[in-house]
Amino acid sequence: MRFIIKSLTDLPKSLKDPSNLKDLEIIAKKADKNKIKDSVYRDSYKHPDGNRSHVVDKLNEFYNYKCAYCERVCKADAEHYRPKKSVTGTDHPGYYWLCYEWTNLIPSCITCNREGAKHNHFPILGTRVNAPSFINGRLDKEKCRAFNAPLIDETPYLLHPEIDDPKQYFKFEIDPENEGIRLRGINNRGSETINICKLNRYELKIHRGNVIKDFVDNLSMVAFLNQRNNDAVVSGLFQMFNVFKQKSQHKEFEHLMLKEYAMASVWNFTEIVLPFVENLSWRNTVKDAFIAWKCSVLGYVEKMREIFR
Ligand SMILES: [Zn+2]
Repeated sequence: MRFIIKSLTDLPKSLKDPSNLKDLEIIAKKADKNKIKDSVYRDSYKHPDGNRSHVVDKLNEFYNYKCAYCERVCKADAEHYRPKKSVTGTDHPGYYWLCYEWTNLIPSCITCNREGAKHNHFPILGTRVNAPSFINGRLDKEKCRAFNAPLIDETPYLLHPEIDDPKQYFKFEIDPENEGIRLRGINNRGSETINICKLNRYELKIHRGNVIKDFVDNLSMVAFLNQRNNDAVVSGLFQMFNVFKQKSQHKEFEHLMLKEYAMASVWNFTEIVLPFVENLSWRNTVKDAFIAWKCSVLGYVEKMREIFR
């Protein structure tokens, strides 16, 4: 999961079409969920690769073709963050008035959104909003925004990638069952988001582990290529650290939060990267080089050199 800035003015055409907005007024006033059309919130079209959606195409511009929850590249669906027709485990009618709301549409892979995972789940900590607000007899659009009151005061357990910075809610750790890397919530919203979207499912843990294993393999190549030259080894490792850090900033790559986390501190690197380095002596070399690289990135080495020059 990653924090995303989505333009509020660059909307898919179907969501700003006047006749669709007129229908939305009826849906909101009469609570008529039967009038909700997927041709508006999905707006599918034929493509040689199969059916595509104009709404998902627009979401992909901001989410780089990745699922908002698991950060895998996928053929996403336009998922309603707040379910439009019912809310699992409650007698809530669903947030029908948000069916065409841009801040309520999130790209999700089928697995994160399937029954048993996110689907119509939407547990909250605050007070549930049961009906739309109107102003001068028309739907109050500002109160339909996910980041505005009264919706924001619901304090949903599920993080919203355009409102909440996921880095404040998660950490990573080696899976105790040796199934790659698992995500851990550092507070109840983080933990519940993992539960709701099943973010510790087997294939995700293995895939995260493979991202780190590939990195560790690249580090090993440095030792292989520079066997008798310590300076060259350290310089090669610095280069690899820089490349991996740069990769954590490439929006189109998967698992950016994991990559950023791994490189953020010596503690994180020690927890989730070093255990994949099997040779103990090489592990110490990599750790020492990482500490030196981290200091150089932070400018400490230069400062110390200045002091003792
Ligand atoms: Zn997903």
